[in-house]
Amino acid sequence: MPPGREIILVVEDEPAIADTLVYALQTEGFAPIWKSSGRDALAELERTPVALVVLDVGLPDGSGFDVCRTLRARHAVPVIFLTARSGEIDRIVGLELGADDYVAKPFSPRELTARVRAVLRRTHGASSAASSPAATAGVWQHDVPRCRIGYRGSALELTRNEYRLLAALLAQPGRVFSREQLMEAAWDDPGAALDRTVDAHVKSVRAKLRSAAPEADPIVTHRGLGYSLREET
Ligand code: CA
Repeated sequence: MPPGREIILVVEDEPAIADTLVYALQTEGFAPIWKSSGRDALAELERTPVALVVLDVGLPDGSGFDVCRTLRARHAVPVIFLTARSGEIDRIVGLELGADDYVAKPFSPRELTARVRAVLRRTHGASSAASSPAATAGVWQHDVPRCRIGYRGSALELTRNEYRLLAALLAQPGRVFSREQLMEAAWDDPGAALDRTVDAHVKSVRAKLRSAAPEADPIVTHRGLGYSLREET
Protein backbone atom coordinates (compact mmCIF):
# COMPACT_ATOMS: atom_id res chain seq x y z
CA MET A 1 0.00 0.00 0.00
CA PRO A 2 1.66 3.31 -1.02
CA PRO A 3 1.98 5.65 1.98
CA GLY A 4 -0.46 8.55 2.30
CA ARG A 5 -3.16 6.98 0.17
CA GLU A 6 -6.54 6.98 1.84
CA ILE A 7 -8.26 3.61 1.92
CA ILE A 8 -11.77 3.54 0.48
CA LEU A 9 -13.85 0.45 1.17
CA VAL A 10 -16.16 -0.30 -1.76
CA VAL A 11 -19.07 -2.59 -0.78
CA GLU A 12 -20.87 -3.61 -3.97
CA ASP A 13 -22.00 -7.02 -5.18
CA GLU A 14 -22.08 -6.21 -8.89
CA PRO A 15 -18.53 -6.80 -10.20
CA ALA A 16 -18.92 -4.48 -13.20
CA ILE A 17 -19.89 -1.54 -10.99
CA ALA A 18 -17.22 -2.42 -8.41
CA ASP A 19 -14.54 -2.58 -11.13
CA THR A 20 -15.50 0.84 -12.44
CA LEU A 21 -15.42 2.28 -8.92
CA VAL A 22 -12.11 0.70 -7.98
CA TYR A 23 -10.50 1.91 -11.20
CA ALA A 24 -11.86 5.46 -10.79
CA LEU A 25 -10.72 5.66 -7.16
CA GLN A 26 -7.25 4.33 -8.01
CA THR A 27 -6.93 6.88 -10.81
CA GLU A 28 -7.78 9.63 -8.32
CA GLY A 29 -5.03 8.53 -5.94
CA PHE A 30 -7.06 6.53 -3.44
CA ALA A 31 -6.41 2.97 -2.27
CA PRO A 32 -9.69 1.12 -2.82
CA ILE A 33 -10.56 -2.26 -1.31
CA TRP A 34 -13.52 -4.14 -2.79
CA LYS A 35 -15.85 -6.35 -0.75
CA SER A 36 -18.99 -7.88 -2.24
CA SER A 37 -20.95 -8.54 0.98
CA GLY A 38 -21.82 -6.66 4.13
CA ARG A 39 -20.25 -9.35 6.29
CA ASP A 40 -16.88 -9.15 4.52
CA ALA A 41 -17.02 -5.36 4.67
CA LEU A 42 -17.60 -5.30 8.44
CA ALA A 43 -14.74 -7.78 8.93
CA GLU A 44 -12.45 -5.58 6.82
CA LEU A 45 -13.33 -2.53 8.93
CA GLU A 46 -12.11 -4.36 12.02
CA ARG A 47 -8.59 -4.76 10.63
CA THR A 48 -8.02 -1.85 8.23
CA PRO A 49 -8.00 1.93 8.86
CA VAL A 50 -10.62 2.78 6.26
CA ALA A 51 -11.09 6.50 5.46
CA LEU A 52 -14.52 6.17 3.83
CA VAL A 53 -17.05 3.49 2.88
CA VAL A 54 -18.94 3.44 -0.42
CA LEU A 55 -21.91 1.22 0.41
CA ASP A 56 -24.44 -0.32 -1.99
CA VAL A 57 -27.95 -0.45 -0.52
CA GLY A 58 -28.82 -3.81 -2.11
CA LEU A 59 -26.35 -6.47 -0.94
CA PRO A 60 -26.63 -10.26 -1.22
CA ASP A 61 -26.51 -10.81 2.54
CA GLY A 62 -28.89 -8.06 3.53
CA SER A 63 -29.52 -4.37 3.24
CA GLY A 64 -26.77 -1.74 3.15
CA PHE A 65 -28.91 0.10 5.72
CA ASP A 66 -28.30 -2.70 8.25
CA VAL A 67 -24.59 -2.71 7.44
CA CYS A 68 -24.52 1.06 7.99
CA ARG A 69 -26.27 0.74 11.35
CA THR A 70 -23.81 -1.93 12.50
CA LEU A 71 -20.73 -0.06 11.38
CA ARG A 72 -22.04 3.23 12.84
CA ALA A 73 -22.21 1.57 16.24
CA ARG A 74 -18.48 0.81 16.11
CA HIS A 75 -16.79 3.23 13.73
CA ALA A 76 -16.81 6.92 12.89
CA VAL A 77 -15.99 6.32 9.25
CA PRO A 78 -18.07 8.36 6.75
CA VAL A 79 -20.46 6.49 4.46
CA ILE A 80 -21.64 7.27 0.92
CA PHE A 81 -24.59 5.14 -0.20
CA LEU A 82 -25.02 3.82 -3.70
CA THR A 83 -28.69 3.49 -4.48
CA ALA A 84 -30.74 2.37 -7.43
CA ARG A 85 -34.19 3.39 -6.20
CA SER A 86 -35.62 6.79 -5.41
CA GLY A 87 -37.56 5.34 -2.47
CA GLU A 88 -34.23 4.57 -0.84
CA ILE A 89 -33.03 8.13 -1.35
CA ASP A 90 -35.78 9.41 0.95
CA ARG A 91 -34.54 7.22 3.78
CA ILE A 92 -30.93 8.20 3.20
CA VAL A 93 -31.69 11.91 2.96
CA GLY A 94 -33.81 11.62 6.12
CA LEU A 95 -30.46 10.82 7.74
CA GLU A 96 -32.00 8.33 10.12
CA LEU A 97 -28.99 6.23 9.18
CA GLY A 98 -26.36 8.92 9.54
CA ALA A 99 -25.12 8.60 5.97
CA ASP A 100 -22.82 11.35 4.80
CA ASP A 101 -24.00 11.38 1.20
CA TYR A 102 -25.49 9.24 -1.52
CA VAL A 103 -25.04 8.70 -5.23
CA ALA A 104 -27.90 7.39 -7.37
CA LYS A 105 -27.24 4.69 -9.94
CA PRO A 106 -26.39 5.02 -12.75
CA PHE A 107 -23.62 7.47 -11.84
CA SER A 108 -20.45 8.62 -13.48
CA PRO A 109 -17.14 7.61 -11.86
CA ARG A 110 -16.22 11.28 -11.84
CA GLU A 111 -19.34 12.16 -9.83
CA LEU A 112 -18.58 9.46 -7.29
CA THR A 113 -14.93 10.44 -6.80
CA ALA A 114 -15.97 14.10 -6.45
CA ARG A 115 -18.40 13.11 -3.66
CA VAL A 116 -15.70 11.02 -1.97
CA ARG A 117 -13.36 14.01 -1.99
CA ALA A 118 -16.06 16.36 -0.68
CA VAL A 119 -17.02 14.06 2.20
CA LEU A 120 -13.38 13.47 3.16
CA ARG A 121 -12.80 17.22 3.10
CA ARG A 122 -15.83 17.73 5.35
CA THR A 123 -14.76 15.12 7.84
CA HIS A 124 -11.10 16.24 7.74
CA GLY A 125 -10.07 12.64 7.28
CA ALA A 126 -10.66 12.23 11.03
CA SER A 127 -12.39 8.94 10.50
CA SER A 128 -10.19 6.18 11.76
CA ALA A 129 -11.76 3.65 14.07
CA ALA A 130 -10.21 5.39 17.05
CA SER A 131 -11.53 8.88 16.40
CA SER A 132 -14.61 10.53 17.87
CA PRO A 133 -17.83 10.05 15.91
CA ALA A 134 -18.34 13.80 15.87
CA ALA A 135 -17.62 14.99 12.36
CA THR A 136 -16.09 18.45 12.46
CA ALA A 137 -15.99 20.20 9.15
CA GLY A 138 -15.09 23.83 8.51
CA VAL A 139 -17.82 26.16 9.72
CA TRP A 140 -20.32 23.36 10.41
CA GLN A 141 -20.08 20.76 13.12
CA HIS A 142 -22.44 17.86 12.51
CA ASP A 143 -22.43 15.24 15.25
CA VAL A 144 -24.46 12.63 13.40
CA PRO A 145 -24.78 9.98 16.15
CA ARG A 146 -26.03 12.61 18.62
CA CYS A 147 -28.20 14.43 16.06
CA ARG A 148 -26.59 17.76 16.89
CA ILE A 149 -25.44 20.54 14.60
CA GLY A 150 -23.16 23.43 15.44
CA TYR A 151 -22.42 26.49 13.35
CA ARG A 152 -19.20 28.49 13.68
CA GLY A 153 -18.54 26.98 17.05
CA SER A 154 -22.02 27.47 18.57
CA ALA A 155 -24.29 24.49 19.19
CA LEU A 156 -27.76 25.02 17.73
CA GLU A 157 -30.84 24.19 19.79
CA LEU A 158 -32.98 22.59 17.11
CA THR A 159 -36.31 20.82 17.22
CA ARG A 160 -36.49 17.41 15.62
CA ASN A 161 -37.88 18.67 12.31
CA GLU A 162 -35.49 21.64 12.25
CA TYR A 163 -32.59 19.25 12.78
CA ARG A 164 -33.68 16.92 10.02
CA LEU A 165 -34.28 19.79 7.62
CA LEU A 166 -30.87 21.35 8.28
CA ALA A 167 -29.15 17.96 8.17
CA ALA A 168 -30.62 17.33 4.71
CA LEU A 169 -29.30 20.69 3.46
CA LEU A 170 -25.96 20.08 5.14
CA ALA A 171 -25.54 16.67 3.51
CA GLN A 172 -25.21 18.35 0.12
CA PRO A 173 -24.08 21.99 0.34
CA GLY A 174 -24.94 23.93 -2.82
CA ARG A 175 -27.71 21.55 -3.91
CA VAL A 176 -31.10 23.19 -4.30
CA PHE A 177 -33.82 21.21 -2.51
CA SER A 178 -37.47 21.74 -3.36
CA ARG A 179 -39.90 22.23 -0.46
CA GLU A 180 -41.29 18.80 -1.26
CA GLN A 181 -37.85 17.17 -0.96
CA LEU A 182 -37.23 18.90 2.35
CA MET A 183 -40.62 17.80 3.62
CA GLU A 184 -39.86 14.21 2.75
CA ALA A 185 -36.46 14.48 4.40
CA ALA A 186 -37.63 16.10 7.60
CA TRP A 187 -41.19 14.94 8.28
CA ASP A 188 -42.35 11.43 9.08
CA ASP A 189 -45.68 12.18 7.43
CA PRO A 190 -44.77 14.54 4.58
CA GLY A 191 -48.35 14.53 3.27
CA ALA A 192 -49.49 16.31 6.41
CA ALA A 193 -47.03 19.17 6.04
CA LEU A 194 -47.58 22.18 3.79
CA ASP A 195 -45.14 24.25 1.75
CA ARG A 196 -45.46 27.00 4.29
CA THR A 197 -44.58 24.56 7.08
CA VAL A 198 -41.18 24.17 5.44
CA ASP A 199 -40.90 27.94 5.05
CA ALA A 200 -41.76 28.43 8.72
CA HIS A 201 -39.13 25.93 9.80
CA VAL A 202 -36.49 27.49 7.54
CA LYS A 203 -37.36 30.83 9.13
CA SER A 204 -36.85 29.50 12.64
CA VAL A 205 -33.60 27.73 11.70
CA ARG A 206 -32.37 31.00 10.18
CA ALA A 207 -33.19 32.83 13.41
CA LYS A 208 -31.19 30.28 15.39
CA LEU A 209 -28.27 30.56 12.97
CA ARG A 210 -28.42 34.34 13.30
CA SER A 211 -28.01 34.11 17.04
CA ALA A 212 -24.97 31.85 16.49
CA ALA A 213 -23.43 34.12 13.83
CA PRO A 214 -25.32 37.42 13.32
CA GLU A 215 -23.64 38.38 10.06
CA ALA A 216 -23.97 35.03 8.34
CA ASP A 217 -27.01 33.81 6.39
CA PRO A 218 -25.99 30.34 5.19
CA ILE A 219 -29.43 29.22 3.94
CA VAL A 220 -30.12 30.54 0.45
CA THR A 221 -33.67 31.02 -0.91
CA HIS A 222 -34.13 30.14 -4.58
CA ARG A 223 -37.38 31.75 -5.69
CA GLY A 224 -39.80 29.23 -7.15
CA LEU A 225 -37.36 26.39 -6.50
CA GLY A 226 -36.55 25.93 -2.84
CA TYR A 227 -33.55 26.22 -0.58
CA SER A 228 -29.87 25.37 -0.50
CA LEU A 229 -27.01 25.71 1.91
CA ARG A 230 -24.26 28.14 0.94
CA GLU A 231 -20.99 26.36 0.28
CA GLU A 232 -18.42 27.67 2.76
CA THR A 233 -15.27 26.18 4.17
CA1 CA B 1 -26.44 -4.49 -5.38
